[in-house]
Amino acid sequence: MNVSDSVVRNLHQLLVQIAEIKSQIERGPRQIKAAQLQVDTAKDALQKCKDTIKQKKMETDRKQLQLREREAKIHDWEGKMNSATNNREFQAIKEQIAADTQANNVLSDEILETLEEIDSFQALSKEYEEKLKLTEAEKVKTDNNVAARIATLQQELIRVEGNLAKVEEQLTPEFKVDYKRLVSSRGADAMAQLEDVSCGGCNTGLTPRILDKLRMGNPFVCPSCSRLLYRPECPF
Ligand SMILES: [Zn+2]
Repeated sequence: MNVSDSVVRNLHQLLVQIAEIKSQIERGPRQIKAAQLQVDTAKDALQKCKDTIKQKKMETDRKQLQLREREAKIHDWEGKMNSATNNREFQAIKEQIAADTQANNVLSDEILETLEEIDSFQALSKEYEEKLKLTEAEKVKTDNNVAARIATLQQELIRVEGNLAKVEEQLTPEFKVDYKRLVSSRGADAMAQLEDVSCGGCNTGLTPRILDKLRMGNPFVCPSCSRLLYRPECPF
């Protein structure tokens, strides 16, 4: 392969950098979506709480009406008790009054209980309103942060893509064909660094013949994973 491995190394580093920037850009919409989900969840909780309060208030109104109707009935019975013509009739009315009074006592307790429930749901509703305000503020913050970060990343992407284009310009036409084919199907994963005596991409040990070629600075295609191999940067 008529290309120096430092060129391949450079190409790979730039491709990895580009892939990282792109993946960071892609994270943006996901973060916005997650923040929106928090807002929607808070809205739902508040709405459910408000619906419960409404339903419990209606229930109380209905029971209070029932209570008043039965009170009127008791009042009627009391009037009739005085005009009872015999003891049996008197006793029957008395029993009826006792039964209705008992039923109203139960109903009063139920109304009180529901009113207490409404109180606690109203307190909960206030909490949910606060939570909603917080999530909405958080969403605005996320929107702004993501927009700012994506703008910076896009500048960075343009810069690194420019650098890559400069390196690609200098490739020989025949290497360029192989390189483009590899990169179009595998992206940054088309290349790997030699790790000791193995392919850094698939960890397969390489034959001495391949290692010799690589050590002489010639990039070589890994026979196992087909990644284009190059030597790591010399630290000296
Ligand atoms: Zn490999």
